[in-house]
Amino acid sequence: MQRQIMVYLEYRKHKLAEVSLELLSKAHSLAEDLNAEVVGLAVGYGLDGLDKLGENGAHRVIYIEHKELSSYRTLPFAKAVITAIKNYNPYIVLFGATHIGRDLAPRVASSLRVGLTADCTELNIGEYKSGKNVYKDQLLQIRPAWGGNIIATIVSPESLPSMATVRDGVMPVSRSINGQRAQVERLEVDISENELLTTIIEQEFIEKQVDLKGAKIIVGAGMGAANHRAMELIFELARLLKAEVGGTRPLIDAGFLDRERQIGQTGVSVRPNLYIACGISGQIQHQIGIIDSKRIIAINKDKDAPIFDIAHYKIVGDLNEVIPLMIKGYKEALAKREVEELKL
Ligand SMILES: Cc1cc2nc3c(=O)[nH]c(=O)nc-3n(C[C@H](O)[C@H](O)[C@H](O)COP(=O)(O)OP(=O)(O)OC[C@H]3O[C@@H](n4cnc5c(N)ncnc54)[C@H](O)[C@@H]3O)c2cc1C
Repeated sequence: MQRQIMVYLEYRKHKLAEVSLELLSKAHSLAEDLNAEVVGLAVGYGLDGLDKLGENGAHRVIYIEHKELSSYRTLPFAKAVITAIKNYNPYIVLFGATHIGRDLAPRVASSLRVGLTADCTELNIGEYKSGKNVYKDQLLQIRPAWGGNIIATIVSPESLPSMATVRDGVMPVSRSINGQRAQVERLEVDISENELLTTIIEQEFIEKQVDLKGAKIIVGAGMGAANHRAMELIFELARLLKAEVGGTRPLIDAGFLDRERQIGQTGVSVRPNLYIACGISGQIQHQIGIIDSKRIIAINKDKDAPIFDIAHYKIVGDLNEVIPLMIKGYKEALAKREVEELKL
């Protein structure tokens, strides 16, 4: 039987989470190495357009529909996912490392007595050797460990499926084949009183105010900008460049930015065309989140700061002096361009 890579499709208010599309793309590239099929797993009520997920790499979508599954609750959703895994025996199961994925995946893994690697930053297929045993076609689950000081590759060769969670924004959405359709199959699940111990009385959805993942330019602030004057300069530069502002964990812990602006291992991974790192040392936990930026400009007082190892343009200096010069230079260039346009 052909192997399957199952992706849990996370819906909120009937809208598919971006991370699920990212996982479908990743699953599709893993499936090429394994000659496997990509199977989306949708759990909910009144979901539509599931066949269109073929455009994002799903060959099939299994749909478990039940009116008790209209909003996420741990027990009935876990029952649905466990039922699907037992019925389809996938080789790999992937979840987004969202609040829901982090609640669901460990419960499913422990019920099935299989391994689970949380917050993977890369997934590959490869071989694993242990003594005389050679395990082929393993899911290599790669993630930072020991506070980010090592990059660990984790395998679970003796229990299937291999299960992993991946954070939002870590994997790019790479597939879109217009018109390709996935085959949708329905699966029934019995939801008993035992799984309905909680009742949802009211739900409030708050839309994200900040779109770091979609930003073309990001001005990143670190502890070198941990004062109000420097933060004003950073926001002024961002406004001028029509950029988003992101930051390092300590700066956010210090209360200078909202949590949703955190970039890095425990924040968001970004891939803008331009990342301007201001007063950021560039520790591995931050680098992980910015390494896919097309261009990085770094401003730091310390010429040996690790951020300079990955920066394309390196400015050794005090950000309180460098940013005003950038703002001035950009304004002058804009004004010059406007004058030239008037002349035409
Ligand atoms: C498990 C774990 C997860 C983590 N997750 C994350 C994460 O998701 N994101 C994250 O960012 N961090 C994370 N961290 C923290 C990470 O290890 C670093 O501590 C953090 O990235 C450093 O932030 P920083 O660069 O702002 O501060 P610092 O390391 O203190 O660097 C400040 C820099 O500013 C420079 N500077 C100071 N003044 C000026 C000035 N006036 N002009 C120019 N430069 C100046 C200094 O030379 C220095 O290089 C995590 C840590 C752990 C253990």
